Amino acid sequence: MFPRQRALERIANEKLLYERRGGGDIAVCVAYTNLYRLGMANLGYQAIFHIFDTDSMVCADRAFLPDPDERETMRGRGAPLVSFEQGRPLSDFDILAFSIAFETDYLNLLAMLRMAGIPLDRRERAGREYPLIIAGGSAVFLNPEPIADFVDLFLIGEGEEMVPEFLARYHAARGFDPSRRLDQLALVGGAYRPDYYRPVRDEAGRLSAFDYSGPGEARVSRRMIRDLDQFTTASLILTNESVFGDMYLVEASRGCQWGCRFCAAGFMYRPIRYRSPERLLAEATRGLAERDVIGLVGAEMASVPGVAAVAERVAERGGRLSPSSLKADCISPALATALSRNGNHSITIAPEAGSERMRKVINKNLTEADILRAADLMVGNGVEHLKCYFMIGLPEERDDDVLEIAHLTGRILAHTRAGRRRIGRVTVSLNPFVPKPWTPFQWDAMEPAAELKRKVAMLRAEFSRMGGIDLDAESPREAYFQTLVSRGDRRVGAILRHLDAAGCDSPGSIWHELRKLGREAAAGASALPDPDFFVTRRYGNDELLPWDFIDHHIHKWFLLSERKKAHYEHQSKPCDVTRCTVCGAC
Ligand code: SF4
Repeated sequence: MFPRQRALERIANEKLLYERRGGGDIAVCVAYTNLYRLGMANLGYQAIFHIFDTDSMVCADRAFLPDPDERETMRGRGAPLVSFEQGRPLSDFDILAFSIAFETDYLNLLAMLRMAGIPLDRRERAGREYPLIIAGGSAVFLNPEPIADFVDLFLIGEGEEMVPEFLARYHAARGFDPSRRLDQLALVGGAYRPDYYRPVRDEAGRLSAFDYSGPGEARVSRRMIRDLDQFTTASLILTNESVFGDMYLVEASRGCQWGCRFCAAGFMYRPIRYRSPERLLAEATRGLAERDVIGLVGAEMASVPGVAAVAERVAERGGRLSPSSLKADCISPALATALSRNGNHSITIAPEAGSERMRKVINKNLTEADILRAADLMVGNGVEHLKCYFMIGLPEERDDDVLEIAHLTGRILAHTRAGRRRIGRVTVSLNPFVPKPWTPFQWDAMEPAAELKRKVAMLRAEFSRMGGIDLDAESPREAYFQTLVSRGDRRVGAILRHLDAAGCDSPGSIWHELRKLGREAAAGASALPDPDFFVTRRYGNDELLPWDFIDHHIHKWFLLSERKKAHYEHQSKPCDVTRCTVCGAC
């Protein structure tokens, strides 16, 4: 189908839950760096589009990565990427604002610029009539460096806090030439203008300094909102085509109090902020008028204040609450009962690690007794299918820890089959550990793919002996690319450009090209860096990290001390925002 026709059909099938303002004279296209069905399932994208779309200075539109068949059609006809609603070339807008939730979508940013006929490198655009390219979202929050060559300005922080100020400055600088206007926009708190920074490296290729040529401080202080209740972060545009098309989504919290050492959301969004129980209930009630299922979005949902009451209210009205993730020891009997009413037959719990020892290493604060109790509660209330989420390749991991994943799952199955109500099957979701910036494990390497495959094979053999358990293992290839774009510095931009030029648009093709690059780099036959330098190398504790110019208000010594505690299998207490000041975020 031709992309324009599909866009018009999609618009006709959408339901807008707010009043548009529009009509302003700043033309902004808010672009999601993945497919329409994923963009419309992303609350962050919807929230940012809503901010632009309801600002009287702005005339807003959307754009998405075209579906594969649309890309074929566009290629065949030599047609450029156009905006979703007006069908306007992206190069016609004043501002192209990319919302990037996942680092692996960085490659799609290049593809979208290319399809729009916009030069990828910001230096090639300088002084010419192109839109201002800005980017924000949780991926750039963590590490924008892999795409620093392609973006004019990053907004490092939460959009609700930054976009109004950005727009006011843009409006005030309308008569300025692009270069002077950018000077003004870079003054927005939390704005990162990459052309002000020149990374300096030592002979081994490690970063040694950021040579800064801009005004004031080089450090970029990320921005955040204090009170979630001030903003409604819930479904604003409904469409059945979204991957969560049957749900009305509500953001219940930002951040997480538990401090699991692998989890970026638990550190980058510190301190934890909850939506109030009253607002949560009001939003869920509003959502029930639209959908039967209310999707609760946030890092950990069982400890959200008032969640059991919301689940009960939703169940009473014939609906169902679907939480994104539940920490097993926080599931109360009331929550388990409410969640399992009205046909909730499948629940995910995330022990993350099989052995008690590894759960201490990652600071999971979760015992086997907690896990079995949660499984009991859910199955006792009628849940028939448990999904258990685990990681492999974690720092400090040994083979016996990996085998414990199988043994623990076996004990969950045996335990829940011994009760009055019996579980059908257990699915184990197995995921390679990806080291993330701004976590205590940011210095750690990703385990080589061959080692991860060996561990998966070991578990597969164990599970096949046990029966009743399905194994769903994520490919180490995808995790390799994810680590590259998570931990990479600005040189990874050249690798992304190479992948884009080579037409790599699937995990398999990306993996093969990266392996080829690795071999060429090892033979000294490539100008590009070896991807392994960023993926399977442990970064030194004293090394300057690619994202160290960002201030997330978390002390680096705190992250290092958490890393040391991991080595000694010591756990830390969860956040108590009323009196703790230890990490620097409160
Ligand atoms: S200062 Fe304490 S309570 Fe606040 S985010 Fe850091 S660890 Fe958590």
